[in-house]
Amino acid sequence: MAHQFPYDADMTPTDLRLNISEINRRIRAAECAAGRPPGAVSLLAVSKKKSTELIRWAHQAGLTDFGENYAQEMAEKAAQLSDLGLTWHFIGPIQSNKTGLIAEFSDWVHSVDRLKIAQRLSDQRPPEKGPLKVLLQVKTSDEASKSGVQPDTLKTLIDAVETLPNLQLKGLMTIPASSAEPAAQRVPFRHLRAIQQSLIGRNPKLAILSMGMSSDLEAAIAEGSNLVRVGTDIFGARYN
Ligand SMILES: *Cc1c(COP(=O)(O)O)cnc(C)c1O
Repeated sequence: MAHQFPYDADMTPTDLRLNISEINRRIRAAECAAGRPPGAVSLLAVSKKKSTELIRWAHQAGLTDFGENYAQEMAEKAAQLSDLGLTWHFIGPIQSNKTGLIAEFSDWVHSVDRLKIAQRLSDQRPPEKGPLKVLLQVKTSDEASKSGVQPDTLKTLIDAVETLPNLQLKGLMTIPASSAEPAAQRVPFRHLRAIQQSLIGRNPKLAILSMGMSSDLEAAIAEGSNLVRVGTDIFGARYN
């Protein structure tokens, strides 16, 4: 593997355990503050650029779902950790020459934002693995990442994705422009939730809302997130 992960040596299994309990505490507190039942929100541990050793420790501390942004890196880690039976989520931008790796090694993909990519993922999904669970990435603020379908074309994409045999549509994801201010953080999350609510009568499968990261998970949970993607506050900063 190309990455050497030199900074991971700073972290011990005890540090990781403490970080994970603190994240779980924050999630429970945010659920409670929002009047939502404990356990309403699931935790996805974003392990991009972190070593397989840290992922093993995180698994020993009780985590089962891991998120990766780079197809090759996810494929290598999934192969090296296949004994653990982990659930892999691909959450990064998708280049069309990487769809084969993603279709083979991930269980979930959060970042589908165009039909061509969805078609390739469906075509390349190994049939014995069952359908690939898919979230559609929606743009909820202008300055955010380049990725994401515009809300006004989301319905068309949903209808097309629903015809693909090896994909199972599960919900929506967003990566808003970053903001330090809690009230401002909530605006794009509220927007995604409103979009979901406008569609869910017609598409009851769109139950998952993947939103919230280390710095804004409280805002996301307040606005209805049920899957938060946390990297830094579990595994430490990423330097490479
Ligand atoms: C890296 C990443 C995260 C995790 O971000 P942190 O701020 O480290 O918690 C979440 N979602 C996506 C799509 C990412 O690329």
